[in-house]
Amino acid sequence: MFGLFGNKKKDFTATVNGGAASFEVKAGDNLLKAALAAGVPWPHDCRVGSCGACAAVVKKGKIKALTDFSYVLDGEQLKAGTVLACQCVLRGDIEVEVELADMPETEMIEANGTISKITDLTYDIKELVVSCDKDIPREMLAGQYAEIEVEGVAPARSYSFAKAPTNENTTDFTFFIRHVKGGAFTDWLFESDRVGTSIKLTAPYGQFYRREESSQMVCIAGGSGMSAIKSILEDCVNNKVQRNCVYLFGARTQNDLYCASVMQEIKNNWHPDYTFEYIPVLSGEPEDSNWTGPTGYVTDYFQDNFVKTESMDLKNAQGYLCGPPPMIDSAIELLTAAGINEESIYFDKFLDASSTPGSR
Ligand SMILES: Cc1cc2nc3c(=O)[nH]c(=O)nc-3n(C[C@H](O)[C@H](O)[C@H](O)COP(=O)(O)OP(=O)(O)OC[C@H]3O[C@@H](n4cnc5c(N)ncnc54)[C@H](O)[C@@H]3O)c2cc1C
Repeated sequence: MFGLFGNKKKDFTATVNGGAASFEVKAGDNLLKAALAAGVPWPHDCRVGSCGACAAVVKKGKIKALTDFSYVLDGEQLKAGTVLACQCVLRGDIEVEVELADMPETEMIEANGTISKITDLTYDIKELVVSCDKDIPREMLAGQYAEIEVEGVAPARSYSFAKAPTNENTTDFTFFIRHVKGGAFTDWLFESDRVGTSIKLTAPYGQFYRREESSQMVCIAGGSGMSAIKSILEDCVNNKVQRNCVYLFGARTQNDLYCASVMQEIKNNWHPDYTFEYIPVLSGEPEDSNWTGPTGYVTDYFQDNFVKTESMDLKNAQGYLCGPPPMIDSAIELLTAAGINEESIYFDKFLDASSTPGSR
């Protein structure tokens, strides 16, 4: 019997930090996927081998690398046995060391759903509502993301919650999805009316969520990065958070702006003793347009209006950044140069296949 099925892949066990946690890794699952499914707060961001957040040191046992780790890890890390958990499967039981994330525990859910509604937000961003076949527990954190997969458009793609989870209908998830030309999923989504299509969804993922503090919040987003920031801001309102917040949204032209009325609603419902300011900044608006708001890059706007004027306490501030990777990179540079502690800057970069190591 055994010989007949000699090629059958086996499940193995991963033991973390000398036994602090232990979980089964099913054949074919990567180490990170198994850890998150088991509720282990394993640090992660992109889950496509680009960011390095899920790095861990294998102390005992063998893994099989699914990509070349050297795009992300340096020689010393590789020598020490460091691996990317999202990019390896197990060849046997392993013992591994990783600094687990200090975050509220959330139950991982898997659901079958249907695209129940699609609304155009701009010419290249759609709001997508997925209705699941069961009620969804709402202990997920505003700012986190789901993975969604449509048959025939593999692998699954990541999309941030566009609403605070407690603001959703019991079965629904809402996402803002921007069309990436040449992208497998978004080309499919934008090609025709996809309402009624079945979708597989798993959630929650990610460590982009509001940290309890009373200091100034600086939020910066671009494109569909509005989703996760909006979700966090709604959560602030729901929890009557007592802190000042400025939210800079970078866009090219007025045609790229959306959610103005939601931002006004958030402002109206912000804690009355604190301020919330939403500032869209346009970098490519024609000079003869009727736009009277700020122009240029959000980073320059922030520098001129908040850093140079010393009008906010940046030393104790927290940064929340979400959207295209180049924008996040320059925002991190700006905020750290302005005096915000690197550890107080939280972000989600919307990486896609073009940023997967080795793709170019
Ligand atoms: C944590 C996280 C959260 C995210 N949240 C959101 C969100 O809320 N909203 C949102 O709009 N997006 C979000 N994204 C991005 C999203 O997951 C998808 O990556 C994005 O929608 C593109 O998917 P796609 O299938 O259309 O494109 P892909 O198929 O991934 O292709 C993207 C681009 O790369 C090019 N490409 C494909 N393969 C290669 C290759 N081998 N080499 C070089 N280039 C290649 C394609 O031509 C295309 O231009 C998030 C990403 C992450 C990591």
